[in-house]
Amino acid sequence: MGGDLLTIFGEVLPSHYTGSMVGTMRAVVKAKSSSGLELRSVSIPNVGPRDVLVKVRAASICGTDLHIYRWDPWAQARIRPPLVVGHEACGQIVEVGRDVAEVRVGDYISAESHVVCGLCDMCRTGRGHLCRNTRILGIDRNGCFAEYVAIPVINAWLNPPDMPPEIASLQENFGNAVHTAFTADVRAKKVLVTGCGPVGLMAIAVARAIGARAVYATDISPYRLQLALKMGADATFNSR
Ligand SMILES: [Zn+2]
Ligand SMILES: [Zn+2]
Repeated sequence: MGGDLLTIFGEVLPSHYTGSMVGTMRAVVKAKSSSGLELRSVSIPNVGPRDVLVKVRAASICGTDLHIYRWDPWAQARIRPPLVVGHEACGQIVEVGRDVAEVRVGDYISAESHVVCGLCDMCRTGRGHLCRNTRILGIDRNGCFAEYVAIPVINAWLNPPDMPPEIASLQENFGNAVHTAFTADVRAKKVLVTGCGPVGLMAIAVARAIGARAVYATDISPYRLQLALKMGADATFNSR
């Protein structure tokens, strides 16, 4: 994260915490109801019976984080400080809850940031992405711009050990692109991607990979349209 976004504050600890997982860690915190973020020393999160504690290796900055930083009307209506921000991350599991058998300490995972209830009609019909009780890391609960983050084990997705961390931290966004591209059967069809932010750009590659006959892309930024070509678009159009 760029230094210009941060007010350095509080005690700075060594980046590699080696004690038992009780103590403090560094975290980027929305401390009060105004613009900006602070680097603070906060408690290492507790690990519930079905949670894992992740030592964050990489985290990426989402547009949502900029809303929170700037404290725009959306953030003012949604965010309740103090809050550890950030929701896109990968890292190593350093502790597992009492009832966790699916993963082990040392596993390298990416975090799914939407913590869903598992009980509502949407969750029970395989549509957890529409869960009415969703709580999002770094928005509704403490997030991952920190040395450690605790997440439910079902939000931890195993990565191959050699996946670069800067790629692994984007797995959730990539998942959005995959989900979107699979919503319709694009095989042998012409596909238009409108908007070439990171998810749109990834959707171009996914549509190609699953058999689209041609993929076109629109955006208002020449830079993003260049990226769209790099991602495999057949043609791009500036919608201005
Ligand atoms: Zn995001
Ligand atoms: Zn639900």
